Amino acid sequence: MDGFKVTPIVLAIPVFMLLIAIEFVASRRMKKSIYPLQDTLTSLNIGILSQFVNPLGAVISVVMYDAVQKNYGTFEWDTRQWWTWATAVVLYDFFYYWVHRTGHEVNLFWASHVTHHSSEEFNLSTALRQSSTGFYFKWVFYLPLAVLGYPVQVFIVVGLIDLLYQYWVHTQLIGRLGWLEYVLITPSNHRVHHGQNAYCLDKNYGGIFCLWDRLFGTYADERPNEPIVYGIRTPLASWNPVWANLHHYVAIWKKMKTLTGWRNRLMCWFARPSWQPDQDLQPSDRDLRAEKLRSAAPLVWRWIGVAFTVLAALAVILFLGGRAQVSVATQLVILGVAAGVFAAVGALWTRAAWLRFE
Ligand SMILES: [Zn+2]
Ligand SMILES: [Zn+2]
Repeated sequence: MDGFKVTPIVLAIPVFMLLIAIEFVASRRMKKSIYPLQDTLTSLNIGILSQFVNPLGAVISVVMYDAVQKNYGTFEWDTRQWWTWATAVVLYDFFYYWVHRTGHEVNLFWASHVTHHSSEEFNLSTALRQSSTGFYFKWVFYLPLAVLGYPVQVFIVVGLIDLLYQYWVHTQLIGRLGWLEYVLITPSNHRVHHGQNAYCLDKNYGGIFCLWDRLFGTYADERPNEPIVYGIRTPLASWNPVWANLHHYVAIWKKMKTLTGWRNRLMCWFARPSWQPDQDLQPSDRDLRAEKLRSAAPLVWRWIGVAFTVLAALAVILFLGGRAQVSVATQLVILGVAAGVFAAVGALWTRAAWLRFE
């Protein structure tokens, strides 16, 4: 097609889909039921929605990074040398650790990152359940790289490497990996990260390396005798991708309204998500939920859902490949329409859950 630009994400989409298909077939053969249809479609829809939003949001981070690097960058890095890339990957992952850690430990940032944790399943589709609202704060954490002088192209490429690496660790089909568990983020230690068991909370924040967790005391090994319950303590209970992105902002706002005094109202946004005016509640395993959100929608609904997600995936590929050709205003209109359609379809699916279709 004329003017269509193949971006790394456009290339990655078919690979992601193929690997999901392989994991689905393998899990069936292993008699594991880890792919409930609505959860999978919702994860994919959330991922697709984020790809309508994040390329626009990334403009902020690229512009700010570039400005800081050009004005305050200290060292010169030769992009033809391997050590430029190797050090950039390690440093980027260090800053990613702090982005991710604050994403769990500061309520306002948790409101963004919670989207990724809102699935009660754990499979390769969960990896694609990415937030659409992280773009406004994450870039700040990477500015030290700009001050160190790494060019913006290096920042973009290592960011992509860090993100794409994390895809494969979202699986239950790969067990522990020996000495790699000491170095890398692996499926085993990332399962812990997605657990809501008390021992799993606020653990294993690394993107590629678990070194940072080991250094800063946030590492936990998977416990073979304590089955992990995936998801969040306050369940999303919705198949709506837009609500999956906004629900915790609304929850904080509502909580703030009940509080008096500016200090409490500020703490509500910036303290840990478990913060209460009088105490910091530490969840225990007694509160673990056994029930997952389920809906046995009629066959025709399921096929409509599959068809919608396939169409949405094609639409986002066209959007990503063609967006250089259209103005930012047009992109914003497309984003608005996409969000509206996702919200409507998501609300319909969730209503199907309420109706308890047989
Ligand atoms: Zn997380
Ligand atoms: Zn994850």
